[in-house]
Amino acid sequence: MLICCPHCLHKNRLEANRLTANPVCGACKQPLFNGQPSAVDAAGFARHASADLPLVIDFWASWCGPCQQFAPTFSQSCAATEPRARFLKVDTEAAPELAARFAIRSIPTLLIVQHGKELARVNGALPAGEFARWLQQHLPG
Ligand SMILES: [Zn+2]
Repeated sequence: MLICCPHCLHKNRLEANRLTANPVCGACKQPLFNGQPSAVDAAGFARHASADLPLVIDFWASWCGPCQQFAPTFSQSCAATEPRARFLKVDTEAAPELAARFAIRSIPTLLIVQHGKELARVNGALPAGEFARWLQQHLPG
């Protein structure tokens, strides 16, 4: 499968059973999974969306209180869920074209996207347990 590097956006071809073996990027040699969400702009999103992992995306903005409160939950969930999914953060002020493309009307909005197609969405900052259940319910595989 194709795994997009969160650091340099190089697409790595990897056997699925190598995902849990702490794989590193063939181009920049950094870990493909480091337990932290990656901030992406429209170009970065396009690279990840054309790779194979499902994407869990937090649409947020720096002025949004609930977004700030939800950030630690999103990070912890990322560490607990990788390498089953790639966690991305989209700053809706920095990437308004992405917010428009997914018709984001309130923040935070959480999306699961695979190969560019939306699989699930929820609006508002969920408590950690609820967010974990939502992921279990909607993440493919
Ligand atoms: Zn890389």
